[in-house]
Amino acid sequence: MERTLTIATVNPATGELVREFEAITAAELERRLGMSVSAFATHRRSSISARAEVMREAASILEKEKRRFGELMTLEMGKPIKAAIAEAAKCATACRYYADNAETFLADRPADTGSGKSFVAFQPIGAVLAVMPWNFPFWQVFRFAAPALMAGNVGLLKHASNVPQCALAIEEIFLRAGFAEGVFQTLLLASDAVAPLIADARIAAVTLTGSEGAGRSVAAAAGTHLKKSVLELGGSDPFIVMPSADLERAVSTAVTARMINNGQSCIAAKRFIVHSAICENFLEAFVAGVKKIRIGDPMDEATELGPLATAAIRDELHRQVMESVAGGARVVCGGNPRSGAGFFYEPTVLDRIPSNSPAAREELFGPVASVFTARDVDDAIAIANSTRFGLGASAWTSDPWEQQRFVAGIESGVVFINEMVASDPRLPFGGVKRSGYGRELSDFGIHEFVNIKSVKIADKKTASERDAVNKSE
Ligand code: NAP
Repeated sequence: MERTLTIATVNPATGELVREFEAITAAELERRLGMSVSAFATHRRSSISARAEVMREAASILEKEKRRFGELMTLEMGKPIKAAIAEAAKCATACRYYADNAETFLADRPADTGSGKSFVAFQPIGAVLAVMPWNFPFWQVFRFAAPALMAGNVGLLKHASNVPQCALAIEEIFLRAGFAEGVFQTLLLASDAVAPLIADARIAAVTLTGSEGAGRSVAAAAGTHLKKSVLELGGSDPFIVMPSADLERAVSTAVTARMINNGQSCIAAKRFIVHSAICENFLEAFVAGVKKIRIGDPMDEATELGPLATAAIRDELHRQVMESVAGGARVVCGGNPRSGAGFFYEPTVLDRIPSNSPAAREELFGPVASVFTARDVDDAIAIANSTRFGLGASAWTSDPWEQQRFVAGIESGVVFINEMVASDPRLPFGGVKRSGYGRELSDFGIHEFVNIKSVKIADKKTASERDAVNKSE
């Protein structure tokens, strides 16, 4: 049984407590906030090219030591080691992307206002607080930190309480890369410290990736203190398959899209909406694929599905499955926690899902797929949109008209056709409806936490003409 701990590493593959951490004291928090103010005063004046050089060094550290960082992620939250190593490498890509492009993204943008010289400048705003989740313990942080630091802001990380070693390792990467002390700091704090921190005048803005509940409380605090916030929340992404799709590729991608990260990705495909003409074939092949998944020790390179991150997450997932089944859903395979040590859950497929059950209405954060049948394109879109979430969507069809219908009709921040949804530094990432607001990544991401300043400098002629008019008045 998992103990309730404030900030600790508990190995989800065994349930063992590895290491506990004390939250920082009020005096230490005060010292850290002071450091962030003085670091901002210097960092904001550094050139973008100087920041880029340091950011590229952070990328090199991530790449050279990706196995060490990968092992930390796997130890703390259970993702398969190969994926964890790939995550560290992806963070390096994001660091390089912003090192290469920040100069262009932040360059003054000329505007034509008829007279004088007008342009838009992008200036840093100060300390940005990042409240982050454990599911991609490095990627979530770097996709916030790389653009924020390149824009001249400083970062403060309050990471999820079950990944403290990842949180400390990230702080160490930025320090070793050469960012001055205070430019990026990890604060070991419990979540009840977040709202008072948002209230602090030294915090300029806040970004949160996590659940709806956490989003609501961070947005409320940010609203009370009139501070900018970005929220990346949950999702219940549809994965739609139409008769013209390449079924074999759609099925194998569907298995990956659901089981990736042990089923704990915000943009994992969670609801499979399949045209009735191919539903039987899809289900048979999909279930066969799900049954083949190798479950086991996430440190083993051959493992494809590890444990859930905590006992509480596993228990909540099982409640959702049991309630859906009690409401009439059918378990096609799986449907239970695995006995033995660790927080494992059987890869599961449900169908015949009632519209008011958790499998239809809630986010299932684990290896459980919900299969629905659609009559046609409009029905598929209606089912896809019948959720309060709107993060990603994947639709499989070779018909250009259907592709257009899905792109236009699905209420989500991301739509991929004939591909599973994935984040990419070159594309904005974020949701609509209860999946949050604001965007990360690409040029949109770096512009979330800058002062977009409009500047107009009257030209001499205009100014002297105005003076002449003023004098004659
Ligand atoms: P969570 O419980 O909301 O935790 C996320 C972060 O928020 C943690 O640092 C947590 O700290 C903190 N937190 C929790 N309650 C808070 C509160 N009332 N006030 C301030 N901070 C609070 O979420 P999770 O279970 O770790 O993550 C899973 C959720 O994140 C899923 O819904 C998933 O879909 C979503 N997610 C979204 C995206 C996206 O980009 N849209 C990406 C990944 C995950 P403690 O750990 O100390 O509680």
